[in-house]
Amino acid sequence: MVKLAEWRGKEVFRKYGVPLPRGQVARSADEAESLARSGAVPLPCVIKAQVLAGGRGKGGAVQFANNPEEVRAAAGSILGLEFKGEKVREILLEEKLPIARELYLSITLDRSKRRPIVIASAQGGVEIESVDDAQIDRQSIHPFPGLTVYEQRRAAEVLGLSGSLAKSLGSVLSALWNAFVGEDAELVEVNPLAVVVDGLVALDAKVIIEDDAAFRHPDYSEVRDDRTPLEEIAREKDIAFVQLDGNIGVIANGAGLTMATLDVLQELGGKPGIFLDLGGTDDPKKVTEAFLLMAQARPAAVFLNIFGGVTRCDTVAKGLVEAMKQVPESERFPIVARIRGNNEAEGTEILRAAGITSVPQLRDSAQAAVTLARGNA
Ligand code: GDP
Ligand code: MN
Repeated sequence: MVKLAEWRGKEVFRKYGVPLPRGQVARSADEAESLARSGAVPLPCVIKAQVLAGGRGKGGAVQFANNPEEVRAAAGSILGLEFKGEKVREILLEEKLPIARELYLSITLDRSKRRPIVIASAQGGVEIESVDDAQIDRQSIHPFPGLTVYEQRRAAEVLGLSGSLAKSLGSVLSALWNAFVGEDAELVEVNPLAVVVDGLVALDAKVIIEDDAAFRHPDYSEVRDDRTPLEEIAREKDIAFVQLDGNIGVIANGAGLTMATLDVLQELGGKPGIFLDLGGTDDPKKVTEAFLLMAQARPAAVFLNIFGGVTRCDTVAKGLVEAMKQVPESERFPIVARIRGNNEAEGTEILRAAGITSVPQLRDSAQAAVTLARGNA
């Protein structure tokens, strides 16, 4: 999932003709101030943290300023924020427009209907999850004709727009549709879409690009805002590594086994949080590399659950033991292993020699990992 920061989302909007406020990105208070002084950003202006989490408006991550001094102060305070766990490194400065109404408009994929869906609500500016369902209009779009004038008209009606505003909405919606299709997006969202004196303006932009279409959009490979630093390194090394909340590290092979392992840990009351899918590798060095990455995430315990096939048990065991030698004593964590399948006996022996017991039963080994993590938390 490639989630674009607001300013990148707005670049996409610009390309497809969605009307936007004038604005610039800055990375320091100095830069922000000089953008305001030079007139590159008209005053008064809005200063917005470029983080991926929503709810910035309520959380102090959107501020207003009337002069260059205020811009500097606001920029400084926003750049110092850690918003919902994410350090603010970039801010977007935009002209502050007088808003008459705030609307909600998005296009996403309705997976149960297997069709795109246009979502519209006159209650914009707040998170759509908090809007009363009766205030939300959903239109399923047939992909072959694509978005039609009929759907544009209905959206305008739902949003209470008539005359030239209804016309503007038609063109905004069709631009969003073109962006959705053209960029292989799974979501394009404008919240709020503001009614201003002379029309409609997208004040916010949320764009998520479908991962499976990444090969068609090489530009987005540079966008890595949604990865943790370790995930970043993993990606460069071609290691499937995901970091979420939770303190148990899981090393498995294949998506099916990895997910089943997570389920079992969860069921036993554990909190799996770092997943590493070894896939099909037969190189102990690769395993070592992957394991060292896991170690850097500082798990409370690691559960190694391998079904030996292409990835042979002894390969994994060798790689693991080599990695543990490289992890400093103070940073070590308990490891529970369950290795079954190809070369199981050799693998088990290598682990045993290094002081790690392989527990053959899934439930027993998972339970041990949960208990050890709890003890080490
Ligand atoms: P979010 O809370 O993270 O979704 O951030 P938004 O970009 O949606 O901004 C939050 C709120 O700030 C909006 O709902 C608006 O009320 C306000 N806001 C953002 N840009 C402008 C602007 O140009 N003019 C005015 N008056 N308000 C703005
Ligand atoms: Mn918003």
